[in-house]
Amino acid sequence: MKKEKKQTNRLNKELIDKLVQKKEVPNADLYFQKIRDGNRIYLSKAITLIESNNPEYYKIGQQILKKCLPFSGNSIRIGITGVPGVGKSTFIEALGKEYIKTGHKVAVLAIDPSSSLSKGSILGDKTRMEQLSKNKNAFIRPTASGNQLGGVAQKTRETIILCEAAGFNKILIETVGVGQSETMVASMTDFFLLLKLAGAGDELQGIKRGIIEMADLIVINKAEGDNLTAAKIAKKTFETALHYYPPKNNNWQPKVVLSSALYHKGIDEIVQIINNYETFVKNNHTFEKKRKQQDLQWFEENIKQKVMEYFYKKPFVVKNIEKIKNLITSKKISVYEGVEKLIQNTLK
Ligand code: GDP
Repeated sequence: MKKEKKQTNRLNKELIDKLVQKKEVPNADLYFQKIRDGNRIYLSKAITLIESNNPEYYKIGQQILKKCLPFSGNSIRIGITGVPGVGKSTFIEALGKEYIKTGHKVAVLAIDPSSSLSKGSILGDKTRMEQLSKNKNAFIRPTASGNQLGGVAQKTRETIILCEAAGFNKILIETVGVGQSETMVASMTDFFLLLKLAGAGDELQGIKRGIIEMADLIVINKAEGDNLTAAKIAKKTFETALHYYPPKNNNWQPKVVLSSALYHKGIDEIVQIINNYETFVKNNHTFEKKRKQQDLQWFEENIKQKVMEYFYKKPFVVKNIEKIKNLITSKKISVYEGVEKLIQNTLK
C-alpha cells in the first residue's frame, strides 16, 4: 500500500492541480448529492478536498462536510489495533467480508503514526485487503497524509462523517500501537478491539496498561494448529488480568476471544459480540453520551490548536520569543515571567 498510498497522494495532488488550472470550483451540492447516493468516487474526491492544503478547496470540503453532518452517525465505529504482523489487514478483510455478507457497508480508514513520525509507513508496505478493496460495498482509504498526528486525526474524524453520509455503517479504523495513536483512535470510536498473538505466557509484558484498559474486546489471532494451546492459555491470562481493571463507565465487561483471521475462524462470534455491545450501550444510553463527549473533546482540542496557531503568529511573539527564551536559559528571568511577558504584550 506504500505504492498505493503514494499513488493516491499523487492522484489527489493531480486532482487539485487540475482543478486549479481549470479554475474549476467543485460544486458542494453536487458532491453532497453524489455522496448521499453512495458514490465512492465522489466520496474519495470529497476526502481529498478536506485533506487539501489549498484553502479554497479545503473550504469547499468543509461545506460538503457540513451538508453531510445531519446524515452522519448511523454506524458503529470500531477501532482496531495491534502490532505489525498480528494480522490486522487479514482480520479486517475477514470482518469486512462478514459484514458485507449480511448486507452492511464497510469503510476502512487507517491512522498510520509512522507516516507522521518518520518517512516510512508501517501500515502501508504491502498490498492490503485485496478482496475487500474490490467489493462495491467496501471503501478503503489509506491513512490521511499529514505531518502531525493531530492533523491526521482531524481528517480521519471528518472522513468518518463523509463515509457515514455515504451509507457506510461499519467504520473500521485501524492503527499500529505507536505513540499516542491508540488513544487517538479510541477517542473517535465506539468500540475498541485489540489484536494479540499468543506468546509463551508473557502476554501481559510489554503491553501498555492503558491499551488493555481501553479494549472492549481482546482477540487472540492465529489461534489454530500448533498455536491453539498457547492461544487458549493467553485467553485465560487476559481474562484474569481484566478482572483487576476498574469497571468501565458504560459497565461493559470486556471479552477475550480466539480467532484465526486467515481461516475465517471466530469472526462470526466477534460480529456477535460487537452487536451485543451496541445493544448494551444503546440500552443504557452510554452510546450517545460517549459520542457527544467525543465531539466536545474534539471541539476543545481544535480550540487549543487554533489558539496556539493564532498566538504563535502574533507579531510580538514572532519578534520576541527567541529573546525571551534566551533570558530564561540564561536565568535572567523565570519561566513564569517569560510567559507573562509574552501573554500580556500579545493580548494588549
Ligand atoms: P498486519 O501487519 O497486522 O496487518 O498483519 P497481516 O494481516 O498483514 O498478517 C501478517 C501475516 O500473518 C500474513 O502473512 C498473514 O497471512 C498472516 N496471518 C494473519 N492472520 C493469520 C491467522 O489467523 N493465522 C495464520 N496462521 N496466519 C495469519
